[in-house]
Amino acid sequence: MTAPESQPIAPTAVDGDEKTYCAVHPDVETGLRCSRCGRYMCVRCAVPTPVGYKCRECVNQHQDAFYKATPRDNLVAFAIALGLSIPLGFVLGKMLFLAILFGLPAGAAIGELVWRATGRRRGRYVPLLVGVGILLGVLIGNLPAINDFVLFANEVERYRAYGIDAGSALGDAFFSLFLAPVAFAILSIITAVGRVRV
Ligand SMILES: [Zn+2]
Ligand SMILES: [Zn+2]
Repeated sequence: MTAPESQPIAPTAVDGDEKTYCAVHPDVETGLRCSRCGRYMCVRCAVPTPVGYKCRECVNQHQDAFYKATPRDNLVAFAIALGLSIPLGFVLGKMLFLAILFGLPAGAAIGELVWRATGRRRGRYVPLLVGVGILLGVLIGNLPAINDFVLFANEVERYRAYGIDAGSALGDAFFSLFLAPVAFAILSIITAVGRVRV
């Protein structure tokens, strides 16, 4: 049988009775090889990639080369997202139409600023930090509204003691106070995270 001369691109089944074993799990017999470094790997160790199966080490190295953000970049990304979304969340969280109109562009602007301030380096954690930063910022920017709501909720409890049910008023207050900030948070996170995820 004439098989074409062994191509470096695996997976290759080993013929004959020569036994080969996973480089990580020496007790597991395998004919699979990493398409990058060529070492034998078992099914558990093989990671599917667009260009064939690779060993975990090669996949990790590739990711490290892809993500170049420094710890400082992470901090900067979080600080920008948090710092900008406090005033934005406060102002644009006031009215639903403002939140809907400016949510996406505001998020895009935050993402663009983060992207530039971090030297356009991709970061494994940057998208998450930007998302959490915006969420926290909108929360902080709306602390006065949250405070108002808590006070009102306490009032409603007192009304209830007198047999007055103001539960629906509380529900109305919840929507009128928080619908806009929540809409703003969701819309701005979509574009900000999308911008830094690249
Ligand atoms: Zn490898
Ligand atoms: Zn293995």
